[in-house]
Amino acid sequence: MAGIYIHIPFCRSRCAYCDFFSTTREAEMGTYVDVLCHEIVNRRHELPLARINSIYIGGGTPSLLSAAQLHQIFDTIYTNYDVDGDAEVTMEMNPDDTDPPLALSGLTPNPSPVGEGNFWEGAECFESRLRPVNRVSLGIQTFDDDLLRLIRRRHDSATAIRAVKTLQAAGYDNISIDLIYGLPGQTMEQWEHDLDTAFSLGIQHLSAYALSYEPGTPLTRQRDAGQIHEAPEEMSVAMYERLCHYAHEAGFEHYEISNFALPHHCSRHNSSYWTGEPYLGFGPGAHSYDGDRIRRANRPNLDAYIGSACRDGIATIESLTPSDLYDEAVMCGLRTARGIDLDAIRRRFGQPPLDYLLRMAAPHLRAGRLIEKEGHLCLTRQALMVSDDVMSDLMADEDLFQKET
Ligand code: SF4
Repeated sequence: MAGIYIHIPFCRSRCAYCDFFSTTREAEMGTYVDVLCHEIVNRRHELPLARINSIYIGGGTPSLLSAAQLHQIFDTIYTNYDVDGDAEVTMEMNPDDTDPPLALSGLTPNPSPVGEGNFWEGAECFESRLRPVNRVSLGIQTFDDDLLRLIRRRHDSATAIRAVKTLQAAGYDNISIDLIYGLPGQTMEQWEHDLDTAFSLGIQHLSAYALSYEPGTPLTRQRDAGQIHEAPEEMSVAMYERLCHYAHEAGFEHYEISNFALPHHCSRHNSSYWTGEPYLGFGPGAHSYDGDRIRRANRPNLDAYIGSACRDGIATIESLTPSDLYDEAVMCGLRTARGIDLDAIRRRFGQPPLDYLLRMAAPHLRAGRLIEKEGHLCLTRQALMVSDDVMSDLMADEDLFQKET
């Protein structure tokens, strides 16, 4: 099985914390989709035997696509790839792109379009616009209006709540939302309000990340100028603990460091990244992996991408060494609740790397940061916030694969 990731690198405005590759040049979306579809067709032989069981339309802001553009992308995928009948098909949306509540029945024309070319505009029914999307990921980030303004999101809290309800009314029963904690000045009360609101909405999946200050973003500049203050680490740790507690109380499985889901609602697409499944990424900045050793990274440059019309020169190809592959297996395994499959490490890399892993893990096992259960090495709950330190201790040293490289 394999996945497809489609990058839509357009946003109506830029959020203050974001360093993802995207642009506000919406006028180029039509040309972009044409080139994107060329790439999807041109690379159809890269995973010749793979059945596609997950498609993820991410960005940027995929909900800026018109219905026709979205159909063009799906038609190209379904015509050129072997897509499983029950593939998970996720689309990221901004809450304000579901507003005003388009035709709650899913069938009524929307009389007040929200903008030229907007995905929701017009009279087509909800279902036909979104088909075959069966999972929606909403970038909400917080339900606090002051914090939303601070991080320059386009929506407000009421719009976010309405977006979830709109999707539910239209029949969506696999909805994920994203939240961020450790925002500047965010109190524990505000975070608990976010969690209360999120879990009261009847969602199936939650991704929650600590705010990180990326170089070059407006938020980082504000912090460096002393206009805002980074949340103390103890506050972020406490917020993460509250998050785990609320999720547990709501019956959500904590299946990855930052991801929580009701039973049977873990993200198939994201899980495939952590379990080493092959995937194809299309669009500038998108990554691909052949499931073995080859990684491909498309250059994050829209002009170069459109100019190349997806011929050569837009990607770098990297052949991973055994040491790289071992590090990835350890890192990805530790991110998940299931942990590192010790037998899989032995089968894939041999006994010496397994012995090395167990030797490096021993101090963390003794300190209660790791546990071994059912042949897997897992982080304990107390260690989730120091996972980076544990992971770096388990990485391959320079001698481990010296003979093979
Ligand atoms: S957070 Fe999302 S919507 Fe905001 S700028 Fe980044 S990609 Fe665009």
